[in-house]
Amino acid sequence: MDTQGLREHLSALSDWWEGAGVDVDRRQIERLIQAASKSRKDAATPAASTQATTAAPVSRKASSALNEARALAAACQTLDNLRDAITRYEGCELKAGATKTVIADGNPDADIVVIGEGPGRDEDNAGLPFVGKTGHLLDKMLASIGLSRNTNTYITNVNFWRPPGNRNPTDEELALCRPFVDKHLALVQPKLIIAAGTVPAKALLGVTDGITRLRGKRYELTVPGLSSTVPVYPIFHPAYLLRRPAEKAKAWADLLTIQKVMEELGIAPKAQP
Ligand code: URA
Repeated sequence: MDTQGLREHLSALSDWWEGAGVDVDRRQIERLIQAASKSRKDAATPAASTQATTAAPVSRKASSALNEARALAAACQTLDNLRDAITRYEGCELKAGATKTVIADGNPDADIVVIGEGPGRDEDNAGLPFVGKTGHLLDKMLASIGLSRNTNTYITNVNFWRPPGNRNPTDEELALCRPFVDKHLALVQPKLIIAAGTVPAKALLGVTDGITRLRGKRYELTVPGLSSTVPVYPIFHPAYLLRRPAEKAKAWADLLTIQKVMEELGIAPKAQP
């Protein structure tokens, strides 16, 4: 298929998705078409120059954006500094398509931090993590073991901007957010982290398994600026549980494990109502 044919094909497909209520990032689609057309042209030239012209600019751009994120995060002394730094940062392309930068909610003095994947539509509108139906279920899950964002829990994400069409953030996007995530944890100093879903579990722990294998087990996270390793418990993402309620029994078992570990660590949750 030539470039024009590809463009028409993807335009028709985008119409179809939009008709079904899905947000489509047409600028990103056009970028992909341009890249496909360019790599086709490059394929007609010797291999060495293909490598030089297609791969290098992307990785150079990402690496200078990563250096900038590292420098900004390193300079932060407080959570307010960090909030300003993330909000000012332009190195992650997701920001251009998002309405708001979504950083955190809850009590920053809490011993427990919940980390999700990143904002969806509701969070992008509200500017807060885990709102809407997914947030409501997360709140109920936390309440079942005496946790609440109003008192003893802090909630954030491994990515701060809503990806187009609610796709997962790419590895590169996550890498660009990582210096801020690490600094966030170093400033909050959690005693236990709950990773909500596959994306944050993989991003934090550098593992490749999906949540079905990761859940129910304890992992240790080392973060620069944290005095000791922190236990991490991956759990099913509440959005997944809304789609697959039969899995709630496993999530409940995982929450009970977390509750037991909180007791062992001397993290006292507020009394059950
Ligand atoms: N899902 C997430 O992982 N994080 C949010 O903030 C909202 C939905």
